[in-house]
Amino acid sequence: MKYLHSIRLKLTVWYTLILGVTLFGFGVTSYLYTQEKLLANLDLSLRNEVVWLKNFIEPQARKVKLKRQRVKPLTSTKKQQEKKVRRSHEVEVVEDDSTEFDQIWNQIYEHTLLSPKKQIIQIRDRNGDILYKSYSLGKEDIIFEDIPFNTTKLVTIYDAQGQALRLAVTQNAFTKIYVAYPEAEISEVLGNLFSIFIIFVPAAIILSVLGGWFLANKSLAPVDKITKTARDITALNLDQRIEPVDVDDEIGRLISTFNDMIGRLQSSFEQIKQFSIDASHELRTPLTIMRGEIELALRSKQSSDEYRQVLSSTLDEILRMSSIIENLLMLAKGDIGKSTFKFEEVPLAPIIKELYEDSEMLAEKKHIHVSLESVDDVTVSGDTVRLRQLVLNLLDNAIKYTPEKGTIALSLVKENGSAKIIVKDNGIGIPEEEQAKIFDRFYRVDKGRSREMGGTGLGLSIAQWISETHGGRIFVQSEVNKGSVFTVVLPLARE
Ligand code: ADP
Repeated sequence: MKYLHSIRLKLTVWYTLILGVTLFGFGVTSYLYTQEKLLANLDLSLRNEVVWLKNFIEPQARKVKLKRQRVKPLTSTKKQQEKKVRRSHEVEVVEDDSTEFDQIWNQIYEHTLLSPKKQIIQIRDRNGDILYKSYSLGKEDIIFEDIPFNTTKLVTIYDAQGQALRLAVTQNAFTKIYVAYPEAEISEVLGNLFSIFIIFVPAAIILSVLGGWFLANKSLAPVDKITKTARDITALNLDQRIEPVDVDDEIGRLISTFNDMIGRLQSSFEQIKQFSIDASHELRTPLTIMRGEIELALRSKQSSDEYRQVLSSTLDEILRMSSIIENLLMLAKGDIGKSTFKFEEVPLAPIIKELYEDSEMLAEKKHIHVSLESVDDVTVSGDTVRLRQLVLNLLDNAIKYTPEKGTIALSLVKENGSAKIIVKDNGIGIPEEEQAKIFDRFYRVDKGRSREMGGTGLGLSIAQWISETHGGRIFVQSEVNKGSVFTVVLPLARE
């Protein structure tokens, strides 16, 4: 049953069918071609022979006739014209009194002995009486309709045994010449050819079935392995791989593509697992803090100021949790392509200027100096709210991770057909090995510090998501204790 629905069976059946049809076509064509060629050859040699006989007899007979007329012009009696039969062991020569014709028949007889094909020859005079005939034809004489003077005709006739004979007939002023050859020899060659095909074609087909099946089995065996591995793989054993093959053929490529796919699935699953752990952890921390503070407050009577403090701290944690959940929800919607971006032409300069002013106020507490280095006039196609959020996240980080009295520079430049937003600080910087990870959800170089600063570990994930949704990208250059430069590159709106 398994084999009934297998590619190997289909391949073998198709392969065999095509081979069978090809061999059959080849057999029929070569049979017909050989038959036609053999018949044509036979006709050609018969025609040559009959024409040779005619050309040979004509001048000889004329000579004999002329001579006889000269020697005995008046003695040509009826008796002399009667023919009598003389028998040799192979040839029957019929001639008149004059032995001069004898020479002609003897020469013809010698000619037939030399000829490679044993043709049946009959020569009759104009009255239809036989002058010469070779015996191999059998007892019957060939009776054949009259043909027009000096033409040659080729036909197939049958003797008393039903044997087919190919016959060429021609005539001249004195004689009618018949040359025949049995077609049996051709039939024999064709019969042999047919026997070869009858044996060869089925043998070739059987061989091709076996060979095709063997090849299909051999080349498709790895596919079964792939199926088995794919069936066995679940979320729990994504570390499984199909054993790779050495050859770089279709199957080899399929296996390596499949293994790559499992690899990608494995890392996605690991990311999801890690994300669930991180998300639970992020939400558990504020809850633990709230629980601790409330339990402590309830243990003994507190003054209203102390209650107030507990409530305000609880509110902070609640706000933090809401912010995490809101951000996560936003990213999750983005993941499934349900984000509600409103794309329009957005001039970036006013946004940058506005955010610069806001950040100046935010940085004031830490005495950080914010400068606006350049503001080119650029328009991108995007969502104003999200673009504001993107730049604000970067500025917020710069303020968070820059010590007091540090500096931040913001610029917007038009370069190589793109808009570049650059946020540069001289803060704590990011170690090189961490730079690729900071865009991952919840990833923070220093968890304690980030939390202290009110960070949720989602700011850069959101910044990256917004950049990519706008067809742009974000990257960082940073050196520990020297500062960081975050650059966002966005395509310009079509002018
Ligand atoms: P967070 O809420 O913790 O700031 P982000 O996703 O915005 O989360 O940033 C991830 C981490 O990248 C931060 O925790 C911090 O360690 C590092 N980081 C981001 N911006 C800067 C910066 N300007 N200077 C130094 N470190 C930074």
